[in-house]
Amino acid sequence: MQQLAKLKVLIVEDSKVSLKAISSYIEEMGVQPLLAETGARAIELYKQEHPDIVLLDIILPDTNGYEVAKEIRMLQGKDDWTAIIFLSVMSKDEDLVRGIEAGGDDYIMKPVGNVVVQAKVRAMYRLVKMQRALVKLAEQLHDANQELQRLSMTDGLTGIANRRMFDETLQREWRRCIRLKKPMSLVMLDVDHFKQYNDLYGHQKGDDCLKAIGKKLSKSAPRPADLVARYGGEEFIMILGETDEDGARWVAERIRQRVSMLQLPHSGSKHQFVSVSCGVSSVYPTRELNVETLLQMADKALYQAKHQGRNTVAYLDYPQDESAAPTSARLTYHI
Ligand code: GH3
Ligand code: MG
Ligand code: MG
Ligand code: MG
Repeated sequence: MQQLAKLKVLIVEDSKVSLKAISSYIEEMGVQPLLAETGARAIELYKQEHPDIVLLDIILPDTNGYEVAKEIRMLQGKDDWTAIIFLSVMSKDEDLVRGIEAGGDDYIMKPVGNVVVQAKVRAMYRLVKMQRALVKLAEQLHDANQELQRLSMTDGLTGIANRRMFDETLQREWRRCIRLKKPMSLVMLDVDHFKQYNDLYGHQKGDDCLKAIGKKLSKSAPRPADLVARYGGEEFIMILGETDEDGARWVAERIRQRVSMLQLPHSGSKHQFVSVSCGVSSVYPTRELNVETLLQMADKALYQAKHQGRNTVAYLDYPQDESAAPTSARLTYHI
């Protein structure tokens, strides 16, 4: 009974005698009902109060119960379900069918007795509660799915995008830049002498170092078309959409400097601090070109940056003739 006190019941009935009787049955349940004598008033109260249950007479002075039921169904949001019980002297099967089709959930024959009304209101309230619990569960499921989706795209150690997210974004960004006729660049980064770093400072410190670099990289790619991802072990990669060679080399150089400025001690490096090498490649994507080649160029440029002494940015053009051997990289910076 206590639970029922919170229940909102709307009675729509134009006969004052009936209204008074049904109202008293509901009050016996410890519930103060809302009362309407016309369809218009019923809709007004529905909008204001969002009742849990509507007891709805079929013949009303301004409209009929079917129309009121239809309007309630139209007004209700997908999350606030209201049970509708028709009240009628009409007893033909077609009347019942029509009521259900209009959005009704149950039917009570007039004259209405307290036992039936109270039992049906209780049963409907049970349904209302189950419906609400279902909505809540669906919401939780939706949230959990979103979180799963996010986790499946995130690298567990650094919290930035993972390889899977990179692969998806790369294809999407490539197609987008073809459509927009804009250039696109990749920056591939690899931590210098990282094996030695782990050997010197331990794996835990190594992990902390990767986290710090991941954070720095994220901050260095603020544009919506940029993506920073962990590519593998101690390798990172950036997709720079709508960015040409000059822009990409500038971004890479700034990152190289920022990582160096973190001043994470590395006694095994000639710079004394942790540094990264960067390979950059750019192209104006077209349908004839291949995103994999762009990726290979960034990788080759990175290899050349390593070869040139590390802590360096190197750039390679997308090859005009893909079968030809790559030209040597242009270095942006070299200590
Ligand atoms: P280079 O300058 O040529 O890149 O040398 P390097 O030592 O960085 O390259 P190498 O590929 O020989 O070693 C990479 C090291 O990165 C080896 C591996 O143990 C370490 N590493 C990869 N992933 C992780 C990780 O998640 N955490 C830690 N702590 N170390 C990692
Ligand atoms: Mg009536
Ligand atoms: Mg590596
Ligand atoms: Mg390395």
